[in-house]
Amino acid sequence: MVVETKFYDVLGVSPTATDAELKKAYKNGALQFHPDKNANNPEAEEKFKAISHAYEILSDARKRQIYDQYGEAGLEGGMGAGGAGMNAEDLLAEYLSGHAGGFGGFPGMFSGMGGGMGGARGGPRKARTIAHTHMVSLEDIYRGKVSKLALQRSIICSKCDGHGGKPGAAKRCLGCNGHGIKILERNMGRVTQRFQTQCTDCDGEGESIRDRDRCKQCHGKKTVVDRKVLHVHVDKGVRSGTRVEFRGDGDQAPGIQAGDVVFEIQEKPHPRFKRIEDHLFYTCKIDLVTALAGGTVYIEHLDDRWLSVDVLPGEAITTGSMRVISGEGMPSHRHHDHGDLFVSFEVIMPEKNWTQDPAAFEALRKALPSPAVQNVPPAESMTEPTDLQEVPEDTRAFVQAQADEQKRVDEERHGAQHQHGEFRPGAGAGFGAGFAGAAGGGGEGMQCASQ
Ligand SMILES: [Zn+2]
Ligand SMILES: [Zn+2]
Repeated sequence: MVVETKFYDVLGVSPTATDAELKKAYKNGALQFHPDKNANNPEAEEKFKAISHAYEILSDARKRQIYDQYGEAGLEGGMGAGGAGMNAEDLLAEYLSGHAGGFGGFPGMFSGMGGGMGGARGGPRKARTIAHTHMVSLEDIYRGKVSKLALQRSIICSKCDGHGGKPGAAKRCLGCNGHGIKILERNMGRVTQRFQTQCTDCDGEGESIRDRDRCKQCHGKKTVVDRKVLHVHVDKGVRSGTRVEFRGDGDQAPGIQAGDVVFEIQEKPHPRFKRIEDHLFYTCKIDLVTALAGGTVYIEHLDDRWLSVDVLPGEAITTGSMRVISGEGMPSHRHHDHGDLFVSFEVIMPEKNWTQDPAAFEALRKALPSPAVQNVPPAESMTEPTDLQEVPEDTRAFVQAQADEQKRVDEERHGAQHQHGEFRPGAGAGFGAGFAGAAGGGGEGMQCASQ
């Protein structure tokens, strides 16, 4: 039941007019009283304005509902008149933020309005988007693959064609007059705020079906659950965060556009490599003797290949030093030309007490350069002999925790600095520390922290 009929009268329709009838009435009236056809006729101009305003209100389901329930005064209360400004959801959000817990009891509120649904805010109404993160290994990104992913979605019931029962079985909901929404009033001191809520009688459908008339397949729900397999192309070299969209392959519901399915490709962390853009980073452990005297080290790549790397005698590789293997990084997404493979070395010292043979030490002293003369006390200073001892187990844990914390703080600061920057191979010590920590794993945290 409507409280006033002014806007309907202006258009010359009854309050039960359908959207199509409203549109037709508006078109006829607007043509008849259009200022272009009624020059110097103020009466016609007024009439034209009135028709336009009435149609503006009544063509908007939400404004029409307010008008039907409260009349023109209801619209002036702030909900309809300024429509473009604050909408019901905003009002509600504002209300809830100031009165947490005071507005319970409306489960499913706006469930049909927010999110992926276009609702009354323009554009065709559409079912929600099904979003899914697809985790992919670096190997699969290196080679490219097609993932077959199954999803559960709602589709229109084939037995009742989405009517929920036999034709005509659905009756207009009396609780909301078929609008699917109800307007609630709440008195807050001097102002009365109105909130839009989904009709609980019909779950926002605007209509309901008697139990015995319901479709046997979907039980009146109009949709059934369906399993769909989608083929997601993981392109060679695709970047983390790339979205693969399947338009219209998501949920279906009667009277609205089918929803989309969106997969966001995310790269899984890799045990050996770290990827930055199209470059790969690898921490290569190398024995002290190889670092000094040369030899061959092997790197297991992301396809079935192993790269062999010759270290030349006398190259004197140090921990933290970096080399690059050209063209062995990731393929680029579009053109598949490869980035580079950066190799950071970690020199492994021999085990403690690896030999007690005095001849071995003598040979080393002969072969290696003499110790540099540095940090030697001046001739007149007093020197005091001290012992190097093992750090006790419990103390070691404490020191390690301190070092880890320091490393975490450093990395955080480093991350914040380079968040928006591009990778620069010459970025220096800060980068080196983060890289070694991420790719090296294990080992002595204190070493990494001091790099
Ligand atoms: Zn059905
Ligand atoms: Zn209802």
